[in-house]
Amino acid sequence: MRLLLAEDDRMIGAAVRDALAQDGYVVDWMRDGLRADAALADGHYDLALLDLGLPGKDGLELLRSLRARRQAMPVIVITARDAVESRIAGLDAGADDYIVKPFDLDELAARIRSALRRSAGRPEPDLALGDISINLTRRSVQRQGHGVTLSAREYAIVEALALRPGAILSRSQLEQRMYGWGEEVDSNAVEVHIHAIRKKLGADFIRNVRGVGYYLPRPEQG
Ligand code: CA
Repeated sequence: MRLLLAEDDRMIGAAVRDALAQDGYVVDWMRDGLRADAALADGHYDLALLDLGLPGKDGLELLRSLRARRQAMPVIVITARDAVESRIAGLDAGADDYIVKPFDLDELAARIRSALRRSAGRPEPDLALGDISINLTRRSVQRQGHGVTLSAREYAIVEALALRPGAILSRSQLEQRMYGWGEEVDSNAVEVHIHAIRKKLGADFIRNVRGVGYYLPRPEQG
């Protein structure tokens, strides 16, 4: 098992590297975010351990780049004490787990084993439609390998259509996916969101059958 450790603190980095090496892992330790990014882009790692505060490129940016490249390896982020927002940001950006400094090396080792076990049985969460791929677990969308930011309602439309390519969903069926009970629905909300989605994912991504509804072409339909 090969692990990448991105940690600029020399004492913590050395302690983590030595402990993991003793457990039999191959550990590449990078002290700067740019070098860590290059290593992650080039090499094959079974897991990455990312400190959030790093020179060059911080851990959150590293994580986002890694997921944008569709690298699915488990990631554990190392955060400072009390930094609740950074823990949340890390999980939202696709981290599998986090550990708070100062941490116990045995606990870190257990979290690594657990993340590796989960990733071994991880189902493939991607739906691919042409150059668009959708990760249903992370609720994220990529076009040609680059992350695309969709609003929650835009994502709801894309997900509903992408789960059944070729099936036509009416405007009211899409509204049901976008709004909770009791929420007021703008009469042209579906059109507005679909316009926005087409701008982000391509004019042909969502097709319209006038008066009936919308669908995504199956891949073979082009
Ligand atoms: Ca740091």
